Amino acid sequence: MRTERIRTDVLIIGGGTAGCFAAYVIGQKSGRKVLIAEKANIKRSGCLAAGVNALNAYITEGRVPQDYVDYAKKDAHGIVREDLLLTMSERLNHVTKVMEDLGLVILKDENGKYVARGNRNIKINGENMKPILAKAAAEQENVTVLNHVNITDYKTENKKV
Ligand SMILES: Cc1cc2nc3c(=O)[nH]c(=O)nc-3n(C[C@H](O)[C@H](O)[C@H](O)COP(=O)(O)OP(=O)(O)OC[C@H]3O[C@@H](n4cnc5c(N)ncnc54)[C@H](O)[C@@H]3O)c2cc1C
Repeated sequence: MRTERIRTDVLIIGGGTAGCFAAYVIGQKSGRKVLIAEKANIKRSGCLAAGVNALNAYITEGRVPQDYVDYAKKDAHGIVREDLLLTMSERLNHVTKVMEDLGLVILKDENGKYVARGNRNIKINGENMKPILAKAAAEQENVTVLNHVNITDYKTENKKV
């Protein structure tokens, strides 16, 4: 068995939606070394693998982030982390803009406004969303991607993984 020692500042286990976006943001905002360990391949791994057709939690005109929290709480019969839902819905509009700048196609009406689907989301052409995210993350100078690595346990030294 070959043993390889890789040093990194940030280890991201799972290069799905959150993992790739986190790596991209850290790559953009700091010089910290980031390692994504992904059991599949970040290009098509995770829930976004096949693409989705709407961005949930987008706050449309006239709505506020708390509306999304209330909806999700009701939908899940109260079994939610309200603080996390609120943070997500407060920030998703900004993340949407970042994704659009990276190349995600978001449907717009004749006035150039995003087309809403219901009250809490907007329509996208999401087939390429994961490849777009994966490319954005992998292109960062300080981000390294290890595909086909399934993390099964941690070894710690001085309280560090
Ligand atoms: C069918 C479907 C339709 C959806 N439709 C929509 C929609 O229309 N609009 C919307 O906003 N949301 C939608 N969602 C929800 C949305 O896609 C997810 O909430 C979001 O993508 C989850 O992101 P995540 O990073 O938390 O998880 P994931 O994207 O699942 O990422 C987890 C990653 O971790 C990797 N991993 C797991 N364990 C290990 C390990 N031990 N070692 C290494 N890697 C590991 C996995 O391979 C995966 O790549 C949908 C979800 C599904 C499944």
